[in-house]
Amino acid sequence: MAQLAPQLKQATPVQAARGEGVYLYDTDGRRYLDFTAGIGVTSTGHCHPKVVAAAQEQVATLIHGQYTTVMHQPLLTLVEKMGEVLPDGIDSVFFVNSGSEAVEASVRLARQATGRSTIIAFDGGFHGRTMGAAALTTSGAKIRAGIGPMMGGVAFAPFPYAYRYGWTEDQAVDFALRELDRVLASTAPASDVAAFIVEPVLGEGGYVPTPARFLQGLRERADRHGILFIADEVQTGYGRTGRFWGHQHVDGLTPDIIVTAKGLASGFPLSAIAAPKALMEKAWPGSQGGTYGGNAVACAAAIAVLEVVQEEGLVENARVQGEKLVAGVREAAEGIGAIGDIRGRGLMVGIEFVDANGNPDGATAAKVHAAAAAQGLLLLTCGVQGNVVRMIPPLVVTSEQVDEGLALWTKALNDALS
Ligand code: PMP
Repeated sequence: MAQLAPQLKQATPVQAARGEGVYLYDTDGRRYLDFTAGIGVTSTGHCHPKVVAAAQEQVATLIHGQYTTVMHQPLLTLVEKMGEVLPDGIDSVFFVNSGSEAVEASVRLARQATGRSTIIAFDGGFHGRTMGAAALTTSGAKIRAGIGPMMGGVAFAPFPYAYRYGWTEDQAVDFALRELDRVLASTAPASDVAAFIVEPVLGEGGYVPTPARFLQGLRERADRHGILFIADEVQTGYGRTGRFWGHQHVDGLTPDIIVTAKGLASGFPLSAIAAPKALMEKAWPGSQGGTYGGNAVACAAAIAVLEVVQEEGLVENARVQGEKLVAGVREAAEGIGAIGDIRGRGLMVGIEFVDANGNPDGATAAKVHAAAAAQGLLLLTCGVQGNVVRMIPPLVVTSEQVDEGLALWTKALNDALS
């Protein structure tokens, strides 16, 4: 008899039987408020009727229009539709299946376009688990341990994580930019660097909004040295942060390459890189692709997802409900010394747990996380030491559901910490 392999590490004991909106139901019919959204994926909620209908229609029409063999309409329509939300000048899109694959596609493009090899990533960043993406990832030892040697041509520089350094944001940004300049002048000479890859909000590494001045500093150095700027928007894109793209919190900033996945198809496996056509043309034909890339059902679903995001005002909803959620989490944290910091940008909310000395306290975060699940509120943890509890509700979450989540959160804090 075959068994599921033990390397799967599951955040909750729940066996999901069905999902509807912001709720998941287990096999006993128990209802959970899902503030994980399948790790920030189900942007339009579980089984949004419009997404279901689009996928069902496509399943009955053409499932696998293999894009390196034949073209299909859902892919072409999706590209056209994405043109409505991509920043000006970013007018070329290529599809693969997962965030990791899209990250690797962005690295491949950056290397081919610049003829340079080095990619600079930032401490605590998460870019995926496949070997190339894992080589860029430092959000936790488990992604890298025991699988080396890693892909070469990767250098790291500090991320401006003000709270953890015990600094103001300005001090953290000054430090990180100074260190980046040191790296560019020493371990990774600027003339060898193909790209910076950065998350607009540090995700798996602890839910830390990336300071605007740091992103501007990267853009300025990228322009000065002929380096490409890759925005890994796998988790932050598609409205999650209260703007359509996470980098749009910085006025006037445009990346060279945007990596998107997760919310793009709200649960169907689909990811993409987007870049100006003149840059994309430097990718060598046939060097990117894959058997399932740009799957017809996933593309049909993604068209419906984008329509729902637009029609239901989900970007604005993420902003409004995100502000409400952070305010409620702050209120619930009053007098709780174990909560060191609360951070939010749209519906990416992180609550950092610390011990009496201010050091990361993963054990307490795990206790609160488990207590929340027991109360019927599904959450995730993140952070290099696993000490940040994060809330990432679907973008369709209502004000009443935020209240419901906050009530369960308050009970979970009581259960775990008293
Ligand atoms: N980049 C970022 C910023 C992510 O958050 C993730 C997934 N958590 C990935 C890349 C990798 O995506 P996937 O798991 O689909 O490969």
